[in-house]
Amino acid sequence: MNPIVFAIPVFLLTILAEWGIAKRQGRDVYSLPDAIGSLSMGLLSQVVGLFAKVASLAVYVALYDHASITYWPMDNVFVWIVALLLYDFLYYWNHRMGHEVSLLWGAHSIHHSSEYYNLSTALRQSSTGVLLSWLFYIPMAILGVPPEMLVVVGLVDLLYQYWVHTELIGRLGWLDRIFVTPSNHRVHHGQNDYCIDKNYGGILVIWDRLFGTFAPERFDEKVIYGLRKPLQSLNPLWANTLHYFDIWQHLRQATNWRAKLKTMWGSPRLISGKTPAHFNPTHFVRYTPQTPQRMVIYASAQYALLVPAFLYFLVLFDRMNTHQAAFYGLWLGLSLQAITGLLQQKKWAPWLEVLRWAAGLAAMVLAL
Ligand SMILES: [Zn+2]
Ligand SMILES: [Zn+2]
Repeated sequence: MNPIVFAIPVFLLTILAEWGIAKRQGRDVYSLPDAIGSLSMGLLSQVVGLFAKVASLAVYVALYDHASITYWPMDNVFVWIVALLLYDFLYYWNHRMGHEVSLLWGAHSIHHSSEYYNLSTALRQSSTGVLLSWLFYIPMAILGVPPEMLVVVGLVDLLYQYWVHTELIGRLGWLDRIFVTPSNHRVHHGQNDYCIDKNYGGILVIWDRLFGTFAPERFDEKVIYGLRKPLQSLNPLWANTLHYFDIWQHLRQATNWRAKLKTMWGSPRLISGKTPAHFNPTHFVRYTPQTPQRMVIYASAQYALLVPAFLYFLVLFDRMNTHQAAFYGLWLGLSLQAITGLLQQKKWAPWLEVLRWAAGLAAMVLAL
């Protein structure tokens, strides 16, 4: 059973709890369209991941079977802890390169595209990261970490990072200097000058202190979240592809191979030409789609209906044939496009909404 099936109710309940507490405290922590955008991006990343992880894991298994230099026993707790530390160290470099290499930023930038910072932001995950991020964990295959151990420690590392996406937990003293915590991860999501390219850690922030990328949260400057080149959209497809379009445009303009290579493997800042070099927090205006309240209610209800359909997909994925899985996955993707399109009042969105309902009902009738 996919463990994400059990995590989803916990995510939804804790998001509701955070929203309720923030409301009681009178704090502007949530926007419903933004949260639905984040959850839609998270859902799409899980759907794509189901198809793509099999391929990347197959490469890991092949390397583990044929090229590993030793074998790590699975029945020793100490070995599991070392595997988690090793994974966290490699995650640091995966995450750091995700910010410092243009092609990899294309996959990771989506996680930073919300201008809010709450538990739903944690679920704003990439659908394309799975294509290249596995490369960073090849050393674990060579060192002999069994694939099952890689999957478990990878999941632990990912799930740990969920709770740090909140403004409701303040500074935690010495913990902020050892572990990734809400305080130091807020800095990571900031677009203020002092926040850029800081605090890449997954579980331990010690890696940042070792490699010179640590910055503690400041008392004197409010962190402003989001991208310097703002996404200004809730659309999961657009959020996943925006930077790749920028790369493509620069590749077409590049006159020699050196420039082309730099476009893909150089700093993302070479691409985002319009990005201001310095950020003035006092001039910041948050992206706020002017969605009528009744449409927010409708879209929220549609998303709530989509969650059980998605859980059903996760549970049955292994038992579906390729055509069924592809149709179901595509239908989930179209549904997310329709729901976020309605929130942004796109002209095509009502048509897509009718189409995806018709396709969904037709599939249910045929399956009966
Ligand atoms: Zn990041
Ligand atoms: Zn984050």
